[in-house]
Amino acid sequence: MTTTPGTKVFHRALTETMPMAVAGSGVYIIDSEGKRYIDASGGAAVSCLGHSHPKVIAAIVEQAQTLAFAHTAFFTSQPAESLAAHLVANAPEGIEHVYFLSGGSEAIESALKTARQYFVEKGQLSRTKFIARKQSYHGNTLGALSVGSSVARRKMFLPLLTETIHIDACYAYRNQLATESLEDYAQRAAFELEAAILEAGPENIIGFVAETVGGATGGVLMPEPGYWARIRQICDKYGILLILDEVMCGMGRTGSLFACQQEQLKPDLIAIGKGLGGGYQPIGAMLCSATIYQTLKETSGALMGGHTYMGHPIACAAALAVQQAIVDDKLLENVVSMGNALESLLHTTFAHHPHVGDIRGRGLFWGIELVKDKASKQPFPAELKLHSRIKRLAMKAGLVCYPGGGTKDGVTDDHIMLAPPFIINTEQLTAITDKLLTAIDQAINEAMLTNAN
Ligand code: PLP
Repeated sequence: MTTTPGTKVFHRALTETMPMAVAGSGVYIIDSEGKRYIDASGGAAVSCLGHSHPKVIAAIVEQAQTLAFAHTAFFTSQPAESLAAHLVANAPEGIEHVYFLSGGSEAIESALKTARQYFVEKGQLSRTKFIARKQSYHGNTLGALSVGSSVARRKMFLPLLTETIHIDACYAYRNQLATESLEDYAQRAAFELEAAILEAGPENIIGFVAETVGGATGGVLMPEPGYWARIRQICDKYGILLILDEVMCGMGRTGSLFACQQEQLKPDLIAIGKGLGGGYQPIGAMLCSATIYQTLKETSGALMGGHTYMGHPIACAAALAVQQAIVDDKLLENVVSMGNALESLLHTTFAHHPHVGDIRGRGLFWGIELVKDKASKQPFPAELKLHSRIKRLAMKAGLVCYPGGGTKDGVTDDHIMLAPPFIINTEQLTAITDKLLTAIDQAINEAMLTNAN
């Protein structure tokens, strides 16, 4: 492990040392000591194409040589136009326009503002509140943090956040009753939205914000059968907007370009990021329905605000090349077939593990929930920080995965998220599950020893 001595970078973690990444090749990241790490989580579900894809690099170079930047208050650019056309052509029915940004948090902020402005333009000024879900993450800016529920990230800033109503996530492993079918549970989970709307007064609600498939905070939370159909009905019944956060689960991660397409779900607004540019450039986007776009066009004529780097030509050119590679190399098919392979590998490797409580996911997006006791689903004590130990020991074994804590309630419980690149093969998947098993067992042994002392 190395870090630059006397670093002047304000790193994420100020007391940890990190290896210096110097190169990327396919599914591997290579550090300054020549160690290779298999990137089993694409960072945080970002690197969908893996590293150093030649066509994306060529597109970036070409765009940089042609036009690096032209401010969107003055110009449009061909990469932005082409990328928007590609996304809309492949989006759920009704989604007609794309607002480009520089990341997922900005995409969520813009979706929240668009939703509020839509109702202001329609004269429905009392609509000021969002309903969102527990075990969710929507980004790190103040608006996004307000709708998200990450306990640790919000705690310090609570007085600065706007009030949001949080209902339970669709989280069958923890919330389904023994007497209930999955379908019945899904209806009950969706009904929480209706109850929250009625309690707050429908006339006060702007929209419901949720990840189509829950991501890093809950360790991949699956919508159970019938959940989204019921949610859409409830939103329509009370005239509130459905805002899907597909920053993590979208752009092919679950096997369809938009995760909601597998749910036959038609949202009003969608936020995307991460896999849109695959890590080659910082880019996110908000997509909206023709109805919302038309309302803003006929009233203020703009979404109030804007960002300097929105629609950046190099970012759009890179993202267009990433999306083109997904089509040309038939990578969504690979997500489905390798997703099935990963699912069976996870089950053969971990289903009988004494501390693996749940394995859940879709496509190349999987979560493993770890518990101290499988029968009672009791988590490991939070102070053992099992997830941090797994992260460290996996890195030592040359594996990048995405462990997290607070799975159950924001405080206790541990999970690991896997989101490998779409170019992954079965040999590499086996290497991932082997290394992960080693890291989990070592971490649990280490944690138990610490606990005993
Ligand atoms: N929404 C979801 C579901 C995410 O997972 C993330 C990031 O992890 C964000 C929003 C925020 O995206 P960014 O970190 O690019 O601002």
